[in-house]
Amino acid sequence: MHGPIIAIDGPAGAGKSTVARTVARRLNLFYLDTGAMYRALTLKAMRERIDLSDGPGLAEMARRTEMRGEYRRGMRPAHRFFLDGEDVTSAIRSREVSAHVSQVSSHPEVRREMVKKQRTWAQVGGLVAEGRDVGTVVFPQADFKFFITASVKERARRRYREMRREGYQVTLRAVEQEMVRRDHMDTTREVNPLRRAADAVVIDTTGMRVSQVVNEILSAVREGRGQTRR
Ligand code: C5P
Repeated sequence: MHGPIIAIDGPAGAGKSTVARTVARRLNLFYLDTGAMYRALTLKAMRERIDLSDGPGLAEMARRTEMRGEYRRGMRPAHRFFLDGEDVTSAIRSREVSAHVSQVSSHPEVRREMVKKQRTWAQVGGLVAEGRDVGTVVFPQADFKFFITASVKERARRRYREMRREGYQVTLRAVEQEMVRRDHMDTTREVNPLRRAADAVVIDTTGMRVSQVVNEILSAVREGRGQTRR
C-alpha cells in the first residue's frame, strides 16, 4: 500500500525545509525538495551561460538534466542534492543562485518540465513534498496539505542567522530586502504563483519552535486534519 502524499508550501524562510525533513523522517517517507530542483536548474543554467530569460531554452536544458535528493543518515548535512550526479548541496544555496532562481522558475515551459519530474517521485510511494505550488499544482490530490508561513521579519531573521552560521557576510537588512523581493516575484508571477491551496491547513510559525510545528503536523496527520477530500 502507498504511504500518504503530504504537501507543504509556503514562502522563503518560513521553516518548510526543516519541518518537512523532520516529518518525512518521523513518518519514514521520501522527502522531495522542489526548491532545490529549481535552484539546481538555475546553477546549471548559470554555469552553461544560458540566457535566464529564455524559457524554452531553460526547459530544454531541464529535460536533459538529472536531479535527485538523498538522505544519508549520519552524514552532515544528511540531506544531499545531486545535479547530473554531482553533489551540489551547498552550491545551490549560494547568493548568486538565490538571486536568480525566481527568474528561472517564472517561465511556464520550465515549470511544466519540473512539475513532470516532480510527479514521477510519487511513484516511490508516500512522500513529503515542499515548495510553492505543491498543494495547488504538483499534487492537488495530496492526502494532506499544509501552508507554513511566518512574519517577514521573523523569516528574514531566521535566514540571516542561517547564512551567518554558514559564513556568509550579510546584513539583516539585505536579507530582508532580498526576501521581500523574492516573495514578490513568487506571489505575482503568472504561472503557478505561491498561494495557499483552499484545502490547506495554515500554520503561522512566528514565535514557534521547529518541534512545535512538527508536532502540530504529525498530530494533524494522525487525526486526519488537513486531509483533503477527494
Ligand atoms: O524553497 P526555496 O527557497 O529553496 O526555493 C527557491 C526558489 O525556487 C523560490 O524562491 C521560488 O522562486 C522557486 N520555487 C518555485 N516553486 C517551487 C519551489 C521553489 O517556484 N515549488
